[in-house]
Amino acid sequence: MMQEATRYLKSYFGYDQFRQGQEDIIQNVLNGHHTAGIMPTGGGKSLCYQIPALVLPGITLVISPLISLMKDQVDALEQVGIHATYINSTLTASEADRRLEEVSTGECRILYIAPERLESPFFMQQLENLPISLVAVDEAHCISQWGHDFRPSYLRIHRFVKELSSQPTVLALTATATPQVQEDICAQLSIPQESTFITGFERSNLSFNVVKGQDADDFLQQYLKKNPGESGIIYAATRKDVDALYEQLNKRGIETGRYHAGLNEKERSEQQDRFLRDDVTIMVATNAFGMGIDKSNVRFVIHYQLPKNMESYYQEAGRAGRDGLESECILLYSPQDVQVQRYLIDQSMNEEKKKQELQKLHQMRDYCHTEGCLQAFILHYFGDHNAVECGKCSNCTDDRDSVDVTKEAQMVLSCMIRMGQRFGKTLIAQVLTGSNNKKVIDMRFNQLPTYGIMKDKTAKEVSEFIDFLTSEQIIGISGGQYPVLIVTENAKSVLQGTHPVMRKEQVEVVQVAVDDE
Ligand code: ADP
Repeated sequence: MMQEATRYLKSYFGYDQFRQGQEDIIQNVLNGHHTAGIMPTGGGKSLCYQIPALVLPGITLVISPLISLMKDQVDALEQVGIHATYINSTLTASEADRRLEEVSTGECRILYIAPERLESPFFMQQLENLPISLVAVDEAHCISQWGHDFRPSYLRIHRFVKELSSQPTVLALTATATPQVQEDICAQLSIPQESTFITGFERSNLSFNVVKGQDADDFLQQYLKKNPGESGIIYAATRKDVDALYEQLNKRGIETGRYHAGLNEKERSEQQDRFLRDDVTIMVATNAFGMGIDKSNVRFVIHYQLPKNMESYYQEAGRAGRDGLESECILLYSPQDVQVQRYLIDQSMNEEKKKQELQKLHQMRDYCHTEGCLQAFILHYFGDHNAVECGKCSNCTDDRDSVDVTKEAQMVLSCMIRMGQRFGKTLIAQVLTGSNNKKVIDMRFNQLPTYGIMKDKTAKEVSEFIDFLTSEQIIGISGGQYPVLIVTENAKSVLQGTHPVMRKEQVEVVQVAVDDE
């Protein structure tokens, strides 16, 4: 059967050989074992069920969470001469019936469905007696409540498979699963340990960067001007942020597309198409953009704000460099973003879920704080404890000397204490730099001994220094909408002078002239 599989690989897809993981997975599936495949984005998961679908005698059912993904996959198969179809909510009832008929007569042997279909007893009944050989579960992490994208309908898959008279083989596929999620997938779908194939999460052509203590907008403009014509995605947290960035960049002569769930379907697909065709090379988007988009030449993915967990980050960043060429993943980190995410978590969900999400958020924050290799940090998070230094992330390549900034840290902390630890960084920076701002004068902060003790620096520099102290957890942030800075436990030893604060030497950021209106 493997020979037949290799023949189809060549004749339909034009490839000479399987990648290592694909071969193991396909072999195991063809031997009739329930299988789990964990492969990085771009690793070639689709072929793991598309090839068995051609070899096995019956029907292959693919459960996939996104409607747009389904259509793309079906179109791609049709293009290489494989008849496939999908049934989802975009079709009329009669069209869905027609497609189901095509599947029951054996005319079409690959059927994509959304997991929600499994909730329809009528639909289930129709599938019950079909000769289904294989059930492929795409984005299988959606089955786990520990995952970042839990879909309740995925929980039905197991029962559904059991009820099928043809006793199909199950193949679960995902790119982002922590060891806990992997375990959950296998337990729920009765996949034995020896049938779990993990090809590694490493994407060796990606270099990871965390940018902190720099103005995000300045950085972005400089980066885009330095990389003209390159294709990239900029992820922002909210629709409002996307709109604002989109306007700001386009006004400054940097043409971008935009994508978020607030645009209507026509606009969304237009924007997406323009990006896919390279009519516009940069896309500013919320996380609604990207699932299932196979654009191979994305050279950079920039996160304008902190994502809520490492799984989301790696999935989104991983959209860079699918063609295997060197690409950059940049995260613009500001400690305030942690606070915003924490606030969002606090507003929702039950206590247990909240605890879990907060823990994930803290791991995301730790990624931004680590001084070790960023790629190793990610691989470690996904369960690979043998990861070695990548040599090219922003930490591995940071050869600046560290300088002692304990004295400056003490100035900031003592100013905060004198101000009563009730204010945000802007006001604190103004007091330290001796600003005559009305609020500073009204609150008589100009009479504090710490007023103006850092006047050799700009308010912006001091503000960035405060961000640095926050990322070192010497300063803490409390409150949601209007964050207030507080002195943490760690600050005590800094104030006593027993814990030196070291910071990588700050290089002067060269301002690129921008055509400000
Ligand atoms: P994933 O779903 O794992 O992100 P895809 O299935 O979309 O990845 O595959 C990523 C790319 O790799 C596609 O362009 C696909 O055609 C290509 N590919 C898959 N398998 C092979 C192979 N054996 N040889 C060469 N290219 C392959």
